[in-house]
Formats: sequence, structure tokens, C-alpha cells
Amino acid sequence: MTESRRAEIVAVGSELTSGARLDTNSQWLSNRLGEIGIPVLAHTTIADDLPVMVDSLRRAAERSDVVLVTGGLGPTLDDLTRQAMAESVGVELVLDEHSLAHVRNLFERRGRTMPERNRIQAMFPAGSEPISNPRGTAPGVWMPVERPGRSTSVVAAMPGVPSEMKRMFDFEVVPRLDATGSVIRHRVLKCFGAGESDMEERLGDLTARGREPEVGITAHAATISLRVTARGPSEAACEAAIRDTMATVRERLGD
Ligand code: AMP
Ligand code: MG
Repeated sequence: MTESRRAEIVAVGSELTSGARLDTNSQWLSNRLGEIGIPVLAHTTIADDLPVMVDSLRRAAERSDVVLVTGGLGPTLDDLTRQAMAESVGVELVLDEHSLAHVRNLFERRGRTMPERNRIQAMFPAGSEPISNPRGTAPGVWMPVERPGRSTSVVAAMPGVPSEMKRMFDFEVVPRLDATGSVIRHRVLKCFGAGESDMEERLGDLTARGREPEVGITAHAATISLRVTARGPSEAACEAAIRDTMATVRERLGD
């Protein structure tokens, strides 16, 4: 069952939608999810705007089993990820004393008292739990979302700062995703000298949707790239499947 889990990523931050900064978190997370065998359906990049965030989170948790959110966990007024998560499932934010002590401690270690507005970083949607962030500031949020008649999905929110996000994902989120035990591997073959439709015709059923390994075609200038994607229980199984498919491709395309 876990094999069929699908993920999507919601990157939050007006600095991303304004063009001031490139959303590199989604790219990094997609690569990592691929490595642990969870395909990614969509990337959504949105501003620090509560209604848009609520809407995006609802839609994501409805259609995907794993929703990874980055950004908007800071203490300032434009950091609305916690509020949006709570509102998306219709619950209140509740204070977690343990997280409050953690945030307070981070300030005290630097000889400062915690500003009152940082209290929000210890608030969590009812029914969710903190994801600890030992070296950073705020904890992340792990929020299961009930879907009537279907399996529960999860929305996991991490900090926007790439170094903090990466650490939290690798050490705290991946173990909770109880890795599927399957891996994904890709291989790309670049072809010249034939058109896209000609290629597709020669490849026949190889490019059919749902085939394992999957063969995708993309054309760019004079090059046509074939991307072979295999999913399997191990890297070796993927490599073997890719080798077989590549052999068939070469047979059908010739020189
Ligand atoms: P935030 O957690 O929303 O306060 O984000 C903190 C900082 O992390 C932002 O000012 C950006 O510089 C950076 N950041 C946030 N989201 C992303 C992202 N998706 N990709 C790259 N950098 C990001
Ligand atoms: Mg932000």
C-alpha cells in the first residue's frame, strides 16, 4: 500500500512568488523523495497569503498522501504556515509546553529573553505534533489529515531556510515516512537525427503510460531525450530493469 503513496510540495514565501528568490527547496525535496521511492505529483509555490495557503494545503492533502511544506514557520506576522494548516482542517492552534521551553531555551543560551511573538513557534494545530529541530529555532509540524473513505494523508511543515529544512527532512521526516523500501532510478539516453513522432512510432508500446520501467520522451532543439525511470526494491533491481529497457530501445531505434 505504501508503494502507491504520492507526494507534493508546497513552498511558501512571498520572496519566492515575487521572483526575488528561487524555490530550491522543492527541487531538493523532489530529488530526495525520488531516492526513497515516493513520486512527486506537483510543486506549488505561493505567497505568504493566508487564504491562498489554506486553499493550497486543502487541495494538496486531498489529492496527495504526503504533503511537504517549507517556509512560513518563523515568528513574524507574515509567517502563517501554522495558522493555515490549522484552518485547512478546521482546528485551533494549541500551545505545546515542551516546544515553548525549547524555543525559550534557544534565546536564553544566547543571553536573551524570548520575545513574546516567538510564542507562536510553540503553537500547533490540534491533533498535530512537533517535529524537533535541535539546532535551528522553530520545530516543524507533522499533521495527519483524515480523508473519509481513504487513507490518512500527512502534511509536514519544515523551515524555509534550506540548511534547516534539509536537516529536518533527512533526520526527522524521512524516518516518519517509514521509507517504502523501494527506490527510483533514472537513466537518460540522448538521440539525434530523428523527429519526435518518428521516434515515438519506432518505440511503439515502450512509451505507453503505466509501463515499468517508464519511458518518457522530451524534445529540445535537435536532441530528443529518452528518460527511463525504474522503481524497484533495490538499486540493483532498478539498474537491471533499466538495462533491459535500454537494450529494447536500442534494438528498435537502431543507429
Ligand atoms: P521562512 O522560513 O519562510 O521564514 O524562510 C526563511 C528564509 O529561507 C527565506 O527568507 C528564504 O531566504 C529562504 N527560503 C524560504 N523558502 C525557500 C525555498 N523554497 N527555496 C529556497 N530558499 C527558501
Ligand atoms: Mg517566509
